[in-house]
Amino acid sequence: MKNLSIYALSLTAILLVSCNSTTKKETNPIKKETSIHKTKDARVVKVKVGITANKISNEWKEALTKRKSSAVLDSLSSVVKEITKEEQEWINLIQSKANKWNAIRDSIKVPFQNIKLNDTITVLLGYQGGDDAFTPNSKTICLDVNAFHREYGSATKPVNDNRIDRIFAHEFTHLLHKQWAIKNNLEIKSFKDQILWECVTEGFGMYRSMSSKWFPVGDSLSATSEKTFQNLYPIFAERISKVVTNSNLTKEEENALHANLSRGSMKRKWGALPVAVWLAIEAKGNDENLVKWVNKGPDAIVLLAEKYLTGESKITFDAFLKNTKVAE
Ligand SMILES: [Zn+2]
Repeated sequence: MKNLSIYALSLTAILLVSCNSTTKKETNPIKKETSIHKTKDARVVKVKVGITANKISNEWKEALTKRKSSAVLDSLSSVVKEITKEEQEWINLIQSKANKWNAIRDSIKVPFQNIKLNDTITVLLGYQGGDDAFTPNSKTICLDVNAFHREYGSATKPVNDNRIDRIFAHEFTHLLHKQWAIKNNLEIKSFKDQILWECVTEGFGMYRSMSSKWFPVGDSLSATSEKTFQNLYPIFAERISKVVTNSNLTKEEENALHANLSRGSMKRKWGALPVAVWLAIEAKGNDENLVKWVNKGPDAIVLLAEKYLTGESKITFDAFLKNTKVAE
């Protein structure tokens, strides 16, 4: 189904293009020329290799500055290492995707009305020091080909062809959220703000990258989601309640509450995964249904939880809502 949704994205992009050309044919000949100039798309997804003379390039180093200490960065940038065959295969696969990814950006953007990204989106590739994928700003997606090989095996495996498309869609969604946050003057001031925002951004990201087994079947959870959420819903209800109501948590308590929100194995991602699946239920195959959820910003999380938690978790969460004013 995720396959399908990526194909659906491409198909939508193709349909949009053909709709445009049909419109053009119908306009009069004089207008036609100007409309051709006007509709010329300057947008591009540019893949850049962040490796120079067997070292990480300055650009890759720069992309890591918020994620690593300067001591770690200095030592990373002095490492001399040849690109391995496996890393090169990931580079080749990603380079082959540039046009396709550029063609699907409108489809990924559907839930983000009125949000405009830079015409040029750079996909910067590194081979040291990164998580597998991250976004240092609102126009750059960083992918670490070494981490990809470590986590997903050979780039030549058929399963990785679709997986890398889904990872791009996930990261591109992060760029859109970064731009949304700027446009809406979103301020992340507290631990609570940070957690709710991470549930939103990683939930939307995961909606784009999770595989078909997580997607709902009609209005119902898939068997895999159903089973996994027996464990995750109680964690979600308890942690979100604590995060929202306690404003003076210690660093240790914060770390414990934050753990596995969007990291670790899929089955433990108590924040990102339920939100992703709830969004899929809301979308019902039409991403325009997600516009309102994007526009709620961090408030979306409590509202979605209120709507979708079940059983004991719902009872816990409802009791918590009664005692707080976050529900309005
Ligand atoms: Zn993410």
